[in-house]
Formats: sequence, structure tokens, C-alpha cells
Amino acid sequence: MASDPDRSRPGVKQLLENAGNGSCADCGAADPEWASYTLGVFVCHSCSGLHRNIAHISKVKSLLLDPWSCSELEIPECLQRNTTFSHLEFMDSVGNAAAKARYEQLVPAFYCRPSPSDCMLLRDQWIRAKYERKEFMYVERQEPYSAGYREGFLWKRGRDNGQYLSRKFILSEREGVLKYFNKNDAREPKATMKISSLNATFQPGKMGTAHGLQITYLKDNSTRNIFVYHEDGKEMVDWFNAIRAARFHFLQVAFPGAPESEDAYARGEVFIGSQENRYSVLAGLPPNTQGSHWPFGITIATPDRKFVFACETEEDQRGWMSAFQMVVSRPMLPQDFAVEAYFKHKP
Ligand SMILES: [Zn+2]
Repeated sequence: MASDPDRSRPGVKQLLENAGNGSCADCGAADPEWASYTLGVFVCHSCSGLHRNIAHISKVKSLLLDPWSCSELEIPECLQRNTTFSHLEFMDSVGNAAAKARYEQLVPAFYCRPSPSDCMLLRDQWIRAKYERKEFMYVERQEPYSAGYREGFLWKRGRDNGQYLSRKFILSEREGVLKYFNKNDAREPKATMKISSLNATFQPGKMGTAHGLQITYLKDNSTRNIFVYHEDGKEMVDWFNAIRAARFHFLQVAFPGAPESEDAYARGEVFIGSQENRYSVLAGLPPNTQGSHWPFGITIATPDRKFVFACETEEDQRGWMSAFQMVVSRPMLPQDFAVEAYFKHKP
């Protein structure tokens, strides 16, 4: 290393101190040690492996092991500009904050942004959606999961023998349901799941398949599960985000109701606006609430009054809190104000 001619110049590791570069551009893991020198982002070791799946767009190098100062950039963008950026200069000119502003400008609120602990499939598809398909730069590319309707075939695990069989699924926001059919030409669905009670989580370990999705729903007040997958990763993650979108749109307008208890909990629907418009969500119940012995309460404050809800478990409370947080953290759209007015004036 003594022969390195650029030793005295700032190295690539110093760029980690710039705002945004201290955590992985894609999953948020701390202290990235890799970088894509064609996209200009710093990523963790695990995400660098996923960037290799899109090698036509992203080329990665280790910050610690690979040379940085002398190599010239061969990306089209620079050739067009007729510049001779070194990889290092290019990393300096972009960085995680600028790349986020470019590639994540239109991430829908319901869309699952992966964390370091999320499964490989979610992180891989997030990286492909961001840089390869540029879904968050062009809103029309989000149609597979934001249109409010989705139809297709998934492999569904049989209840009795555990064998996976191809089943037709339909998600319809208008009908408020996800349903599947045992036969392609069947008129009646085998099961109808209300969007209000739907929850989907990837369970690759538990199901023994990398794209395995567990869908939980309520039927007759008890929790049911189905297990599905699709061989195509994009298809599976599109289904996952379509379910999240449907649930998000449902929660935006209404809360399905409190537990069936005798306590004086609000029943019916509550409009939830944005925190910018004096809506907020807090864990716990206000003091002196009737029935405040419920341990897992949630308080939704609106400009006019407070609504309290009780969850049966801490896990439910956390789930609902994060769903509500997602709603209040989002600015209200013009049509939301109309819905708000409707709820205010409802008898
Ligand atoms: Zn990462």
C-alpha cells in the first residue's frame, strides 16, 4: 500500500461521514462497507450481494478491500457528459441522500421498505424496484400493487396433506375482499377474506420456501391462515404490496371496530387524518377512561375528540399502532378532506 499515489488524498471511507452514508442505502443497516460505484450508493455487505443480481445497472466494490482512487468510471451517464470521474469522485458527487431523493421520490406509504432483518426476497425486490424498474420515479409503474384490483394464480398449501396446488386469487378493494377459487371456472370462491382483517408476512423459514407468504385473516372471530407462494419474486412481492395497499386504503377511511366488549368503546368508523392536521396516535388509554384496565389500548386524537381502542395482545397493539402511524404520517390528499368532512357531519 506504500506505493498508493493517492494516499494523501481523502479516501472513500471518509465519504461515509457525509449525511446519509452512515447506513445502507437499501436496508438501513449501520456502517456500510460496500458501494455501488455506478449508482453512487453505500450499502451493507448483504445488499451488495443483491446488487450483483442487477450487474447491468449496479457494480459493487468493497470500501476496504478494493482500490478506489485510480479507477475511471465507465457508466454511460459519465461517458455522455464526457467526464472522467474517478469512482471516488462519483461516490462523492452522489451518495445515499442524493440517490434516495432520486430513486425513492414516489414510494407509496403502504409499500414495504425492508429493514436488515427482512427476508432476502423483500430486499432483492426492493433493490430491483428502485434501481432496475425505477418504480418510485414513475407512479404508473406501481400499478401491479396500487390499482385496487389484482387477479392471478398462486400456489396454495393444502390444509390436509400440505401439498401446494395452483389456485386463482382475486383481490378487490371495491368488494373489500381477497378470495380464492378451487377450480378455475368455479363461481363461488373457496374462501373470502375481508381486507379489514387481512395481514400478510413472508415466512420463508417456517414454510421452507424462499417466496413463502403467510396470509392471516379472521373468520367467525377466529384467526385463520393460508400459505402461498409464487415462483416469480416480483409477482409475489407485488401481491404482498397489493394486500398492504388494500389494507392501507381501508384504514385510511375507517377503523373496523373495537373488540366485542361491554365497555364504552367507540364502535363504528373513525376518520384518521394527518398529524399535520392535528391527528395523532398514542399507545395506551387516557386516564379515567372507563375500562382502562385494558392493558393494550390505543388513543387516536382527532381535532374534535379522542377515540380509544383496546387490543387483545401487545402484538396486535403494535401492529395497529404502526398502521395508524403510517396513516397519520402521510399528508392528507384533497379527497381526504372531503371524507373528513363527511365523518364530522355524520349523525
Ligand atoms: Zn443493506
